[in-house]
Amino acid sequence: MAEDLNSIYKLLRKAYGKQGWWPIADLSAGKSEYGINAPRNESDIFEIAIGAILTQNVAWVNVEKALLSLKKKRLLDPSKMYKAKHDDIAQCIVPSGYYNQKTKKIKNFLSWFNNYGFSFEPVMSVKTAALRRELLDINGIGPETADSILLYGLRRKIFVVDAYTKRIYSRLGVVNINDSYEVVRDYFQKGTSGGVAKYNEYHALIVVHGKDVCKSKPLCSSCCLGSICPSFKSFN
Ligand code: SF4
Repeated sequence: MAEDLNSIYKLLRKAYGKQGWWPIADLSAGKSEYGINAPRNESDIFEIAIGAILTQNVAWVNVEKALLSLKKKRLLDPSKMYKAKHDDIAQCIVPSGYYNQKTKKIKNFLSWFNNYGFSFEPVMSVKTAALRRELLDINGIGPETADSILLYGLRRKIFVVDAYTKRIYSRLGVVNINDSYEVVRDYFQKGTSGGVAKYNEYHALIVVHGKDVCKSKPLCSSCCLGSICPSFKSFN
């Protein structure tokens, strides 16, 4: 029987504790800072949006390097980045991989953001569904990236789905591994109580669980969901 999404959240939260996303790159410390209740201002929102693009298909440690490099070159600013040459951005984001493609995606995002005068204030007044459509219309912004920007940057109540979500919850018998992004998101939106803060934590907990325990080859014997997981036996 499929477990309730809120009970699973509680088990994950108990096992891993508060994750405190979204991390913001701290140039003086040379690493990301967690648990600072970001976004605290417009520049945090912008950094989250750029981080959401950079993290496509790559581990956060590489994104962190790219963000620190952009900060060092004083390029992590919307109007400066918009005017910057492709190669100057690409050079900074080499650690995040696919740097030419990602530079194009960042430029596309900046063209959209230019319509709002590089300010998130007018963006805030756009309703969530319309804003989501606008972000998805940007070439290179898929649903996971758009939803990360919406949830973590703009504090909209949108559940972020990723490959970890599908893997863990299909093993738990909650979703089907072949379900579309929207089907899984809809399931989580309807089945998860609470607001933005919980959605924020829940996705972060899914990432840590998928990365460290429910891997391709899962570590079921040390899993906090072992007692409720129908796949436990098949992996042991
Ligand atoms: S018991 Fe195994 S398959 Fe089930 S969630 Fe845990 S690690 Fe994944």
